[in-house]
Amino acid sequence: KDACCRHESGGYYTLDLRELGLEKPARLFFTEKLFGQLEESVFSQLAWAATYPGVKDLVLTPDAHVGNCVPVGCVVATDGTLLLAPIGFDIGCGILCFKSDVPHTKGLDEKLRRKFSEEVMRRIGLGVGQRGSISVSNKQFQEIIRTGAAALGYERENSERDFLPVDDGWEAPERAFNRGIGQLGSLGGGNHFAELQYDQDGYLWVMVHTGSRGFGFQLAQHYMYAARDEVKDRSGLGVEATYIKPDSKLWWGYKNAVSAGANFAIANRLFLWEQIGTAFRRVFGKEPELVYEISHNLAQPEKTPDGDDAWVHRKGATRAYPAGHPELVGTKWETTGHPVLIPGSMGDKSYILRARPGAANALWSVNHGCGRKMSRGAAKQSLTQSGVNRQMKALNVLVNAGGNVPIDESPDVYKPAKDVIDAVVAADLATVETTLTPIASIKG
Ligand code: 5GP
Ligand code: MN
Ligand code: MN
Repeated sequence: KDACCRHESGGYYTLDLRELGLEKPARLFFTEKLFGQLEESVFSQLAWAATYPGVKDLVLTPDAHVGNCVPVGCVVATDGTLLLAPIGFDIGCGILCFKSDVPHTKGLDEKLRRKFSEEVMRRIGLGVGQRGSISVSNKQFQEIIRTGAAALGYERENSERDFLPVDDGWEAPERAFNRGIGQLGSLGGGNHFAELQYDQDGYLWVMVHTGSRGFGFQLAQHYMYAARDEVKDRSGLGVEATYIKPDSKLWWGYKNAVSAGANFAIANRLFLWEQIGTAFRRVFGKEPELVYEISHNLAQPEKTPDGDDAWVHRKGATRAYPAGHPELVGTKWETTGHPVLIPGSMGDKSYILRARPGAANALWSVNHGCGRKMSRGAAKQSLTQSGVNRQMKALNVLVNAGGNVPIDESPDVYKPAKDVIDAVVAADLATVETTLTPIASIKG
């Protein structure tokens, strides 16, 4: 990595990939400290991403780490070729947060935070494969995957978008439909969470991380297998390594699948907001206010900062439009830019930022979190249940209403949030507005 990357003065590195057909050098947004800690394989995965057909531009965000084929925390702009791994299995996964004027002392109260956790756990499905908490008819489900939260009647001013368009005539593959319809209103397993936090002024917030559940997974898998029969230059690699060119007969179907998955995820987040918001109101007696909802695993057509038309794939990266961006004209974010939500870990700070003009250098993107630094396997080997339970107690964070802390989600497996935010600020990608400290975490 040291031989290939160049440290630029604006708080980022460049990597010349002309040999692989990229005219513009890739931009890598790290401080020297973060750069020094990165494993070599992140760079080989980035270079490998450049070998997909149709790639025009590449960016690595400050939280980047090794992923499935390509790094988590990468942005890939293409000519319309759709890339399966850079969208991934959890199509449309993202973050939502809401705030209140309830003083943090109420959230720190043992009884109240336990009550809040239990109320949330009662209202939402937890865990992998878990059923959701909302029942919808086939017809309603069809509507949800076509118009996202609009079908549920939610206000969407504070969402990145209403929904992504799904063409008439596209139908979800049966397996995806059947799994999806039962999972609306569920959080999911692993790193998905609902977390009670407080800001620097002492008020309570809640952050929610969830995606398209089994619906998105089945859609992704369906098109990966279909694409494998078309793509010959990726043989020997997993089905995730496939791509779908604009002239392929699969392109239309997959494009619609990505939109439908994203719509499910948006609806799921807003439904959870309603449920968790109700729990919040019941326990803390005040009406919370939705701040923003945004996805971080998606491909969509955009005008790039260079004025090019491209399909921008964000793999564990989130869109960041600063004030005055043409897409924000007419929205409530026009003169301020939209909020950027960056979670840390269940034992670290999370941040609410505002996009800055520097994000143009990163294809209008910033990181979606702080990034894993230890694999799930390594965490289970090197950490103990009693150790992580003790650690969360010492940090004064109630996990799963007092149940066991998932070892592979301990704060030690994520990069220190401050290091990652330092890189965001150094490159002028975004500016920090709110710093959040966790109080209680519900982990899927
Ligand atoms: P991903 O979408 O890649 O699965 O994860 C997004 C980010 O969420 C991670 O990079 C990590 O920084 C953050 N994260 C994971 N678990 C938690 C949690 O329990 N609480 C908070 N605040 N952030 C988390
Ligand atoms: Mn996810
Ligand atoms: Mn996610």
